[in-house]
Amino acid sequence: MSHPIAFDNSYAALPPAFFARVAPTPVMRPRLIRLNRPLAEALGLDAEALDSPAGAAFLSGASVPEGADPIALAYAGHQFGQFVPQLGDGRAVLLGEVVDGEGRRFDIQLKGSGPTPFSRRGDGRAALGPVLREYLVSEAMAALGIPTTRALAAVETGESVLRETELPGAVLTRVAASHIRIGTFQFFAARGDEDGLRRLVDYAIARHDPAAAEAPEPALAFFEGVMRRQVRLVAQWMSVGFVHGVMNTDNMSISGETIDYGPCAFLDAYDPAAVFSSIDRNGRYAFANQPGIAHWNLVRLAESLLPLIASDREAAVERANAALSVFPALMGDAYVDGLRRKIGLGAPWEDGDAALAQDLLDRMEANGADQTLTFRRLCEAETGGNDAVRILFRDPAAFDDWAVRWRERLARDGMDPAERRAAMRRTNPAVIPRNHRVEAAIEAAVGHADFGPFEALNARLSRPYDDQPGEGEPPPIAIEPYRTFCGT
Ligand code: AMP
Ligand code: MG
Repeated sequence: MSHPIAFDNSYAALPPAFFARVAPTPVMRPRLIRLNRPLAEALGLDAEALDSPAGAAFLSGASVPEGADPIALAYAGHQFGQFVPQLGDGRAVLLGEVVDGEGRRFDIQLKGSGPTPFSRRGDGRAALGPVLREYLVSEAMAALGIPTTRALAAVETGESVLRETELPGAVLTRVAASHIRIGTFQFFAARGDEDGLRRLVDYAIARHDPAAAEAPEPALAFFEGVMRRQVRLVAQWMSVGFVHGVMNTDNMSISGETIDYGPCAFLDAYDPAAVFSSIDRNGRYAFANQPGIAHWNLVRLAESLLPLIASDREAAVERANAALSVFPALMGDAYVDGLRRKIGLGAPWEDGDAALAQDLLDRMEANGADQTLTFRRLCEAETGGNDAVRILFRDPAAFDDWAVRWRERLARDGMDPAERRAAMRRTNPAVIPRNHRVEAAIEAAVGHADFGPFEALNARLSRPYDDQPGEGEPPPIAIEPYRTFCGT
C-alpha cells in the first residue's frame, strides 16, 4: 500500500528538542478490530485501503507508511500536583499530520506502538481493554458534541502485554487537533529554553489561534484562547456527568479537546464527590473539582508563558493575573449556561436560575437520582407530569417540591413547550457510556474474544440523543464502587 494517507509533518520540522525520531516497533500478528470509516472519510483518507491486512500492518506500526515521519513528542507535566520535568510520549508515536477538506490539520498518532526514549520503565505497549475503552468513550464524546480526540482504528497486536497478569495487546490510532499540552510549554519553561518556548508558542498560535498572531500581545491572546476553550470543554463535561479522572497538566490539550481516556468514567447517580480512579486517593480530580483544576492548570500554563508575556517579570505576572482573573466568571457562566439548558430555560436569564438548577442537583445528590435519566425524563415532564422523574428519587417528594418552582419559572420563559422539549432532548442525552456496559463490552472482548458487545455499544453511543431500547432504566445497583485504572 503506497499512499493511504497524505502525510504532512509540520511538528517534525520543529527543532530537535521537541521530539525524538522513533519508528513504531513491529508486532507479530496485527488484526484490525475496527476501522472508523466515517472518520477516515471525513479526513480524506483511503478507507478501502486502510480496511485491509496492509492497513492493519500500518495501523499497528508493523510497517511505516510512505510519507510518515514518526516521532515521540517531548513534554513535562504536573501529575497530581507534582512537577515531572520530563514525561513525553512513552508509548505513542506521531506518524504525521493530515489536512482535511476544510483545511483543518490533524495528528495521526499510534498509541501502544512500542518503546520510545521517553518510556522510562514502561513497555511502550497498551492492553486491549484500555484501547477499547478509549475507542468507545472518545467516540461517544464526539457523538455527544464534546470536543475530543477521536479513535480512527483499534488493532490487536497478537502479542501479550504483562500487567498484573498477561493481557492481549492492542494499538489505538488516535486523531487529535494536535498533541500540544500545557505540559509541552512547561517542558521548555522548566529548562529555561526561551527560544524553544517561543517556537512552540508561534507554532501553537499558527495551528490553533491564528488571530492571536495579529493581537498586540500574541502570547497573552493565545493564553486567553486556550482558557476559553478549556472553560467550554469543562462546562460540557459537567453537563453530561463526565469525570476525566487524570487532569494532569500533560493531559490538558491546548486545542480544548478531551484527551487521555485512561481512568475516566460517567456518573450514574449524581455525586459531586465522585472519584473513579484507583490512584486518585485524595479525590483531587473528583467530579465537582474539575472547574477548579482547570483553573489550576491554566495558572501553570500562564507561569510557563511569563517570559513571552513581558520581559520584565513583575509586569508579566501582572498581565497574566489580569487575564486569569476572568476565569471564575467565565467558568461560572459556562457552567450555569449548561445547567439552564438542561432544565429547559431559554433567554433571558433570571437571577434565581443558577440557584434553581443547583437545588435540583442537591436534591439528586441527596436522593441518589441518576444524572442521565433525571434530565432525560425531565424533557417530558413539563407536559407529561412528574411521575417518571420522581421515582428516580429515594424520596419522590423531593422532586415534586422542586418541580413546583420549576414550573413557575417555566411559565415566565418565552419558549413554547414543544420547542422546549426538543431543545432539552438535544442537550440531555439518552445514552452515555455507562460504566457497566463499557466493562461488559471489554470483558467479552478480552475474556472471550467476542467483539459483538463492543460493536453494539459503539453503535448505540453514536446516537446519544435518540431514545434506544434498554437505555431508559437506571443501571443495576453495583455491589462495589466502580474503580478505573490508568490506561497502562
Ligand atoms: P498517562 O497517565 O497516560 O497520562 O501517562 C503518563 C506518562 O506515562 C506519559 O509520559 C506516558 O507516555 C507514560 N506511559 C504510560 N504508560 C506507559 C507504558 N506502558 N510504557 C511507557 N510509557 C508509558
Ligand atoms: Mg497522558
